[in-house]
Amino acid sequence: PRRRKLSVEAMAEGVIGGDRALLGRAITLVESNNAAHQQQAESLVTKVLPRTGKSYRVGVTGVPGVGKSTFIECLGMLLGEMGHRVAVLAVDPSSSVTGGSILGDKTRMAQLASADHAFIRPSPSAGTLGGVAKKTRETMLLVEAAGYDVVLVETVGVGQSETVVAEMTDCFLALMLPGAGDELQGIKRGLLEVTDVLAVNKADGDRVTLAQRSAGDLRRAMHYMPRRDMDWEVPVRCCSAQTGEGVEKVWETVAGRIDALRSSGVLDARRRKQALRWMWALIEDRLMSSLRGDAGVAEVLGRLEAEVESGAMAPTAAARAVLDRFMGS
Ligand code: GDP
Repeated sequence: PRRRKLSVEAMAEGVIGGDRALLGRAITLVESNNAAHQQQAESLVTKVLPRTGKSYRVGVTGVPGVGKSTFIECLGMLLGEMGHRVAVLAVDPSSSVTGGSILGDKTRMAQLASADHAFIRPSPSAGTLGGVAKKTRETMLLVEAAGYDVVLVETVGVGQSETVVAEMTDCFLALMLPGAGDELQGIKRGLLEVTDVLAVNKADGDRVTLAQRSAGDLRRAMHYMPRRDMDWEVPVRCCSAQTGEGVEKVWETVAGRIDALRSSGVLDARRRKQALRWMWALIEDRLMSSLRGDAGVAEVLGRLEAEVESGAMAPTAAARAVLDRFMGS
């Protein structure tokens, strides 16, 4: 059956009132690429904006198999016991290619997915990474307005997605496998540069000693690593998402970090800067897509690219020609 059409006002009220079904519809609206929907989504987000910003925004990353969904489920249940309401969102760059999401999958977090205090939203499956993350950032604002006071943004620890997620969160947690410290060279430098807290997962059974050794290696290595905040010595914890051992400690470390940033006023300043950078990212995004869609540019682009490639034309001159064509049209 067709769903009743809802005004943006009614949807905003529903979201703020904590209506899960309406929250789901609001997110679907935000995720839509339809121009009319985007306009409605914009005014929806604007309406709920005063209600946002009160959550712990936490990025969670790690390679496939490290235990992200097990960890998030364990942490999510623990947070529920502590009286928190938890939203789990996912940024999955692979979903735009494969069409299927491997993150934020409800079947992998069955217990949390059916818990009253939790809301899980898988990764939207269309568009570029920037596009997917754009939806996730807006979705984060919606779940905050709905009263979720912990937002976990899950991303897979490969490629570019962690930088994007670090840009929308307050604290970035990277999960590692026991033994990973030995091959630190292999770990993406970009990942470690945005990491605020490290946790070696699967520290259970006969891997406890190995995990502790890895944690020590990581601690030493991180000491010399360029970091997002050089005043912050990245803590390295051990935990087992399977037994739950150490997971609460990891949360205390993350929450403690965010609390400290908040009380010193740094959190607010950082979020305002993030919002501003976000605005510029959106501007660049829109400009590039209208440039690529511009008929005048399309007419000359092929020739100019060929000339630059063959060395017949300087890149500077070609760039100017493209921009002249774009702005003149
Ligand atoms: P993801 O791909 O990072 O989301 O990883 P999953 O949460 O799906 O976990 C991958 C596998 O590791 C699953 O078989 C889990 O049961 C297992 N696993 C996750 N966390 C732990 C842990 O702390 N200890 C042990 N022994 N196994 C774990």
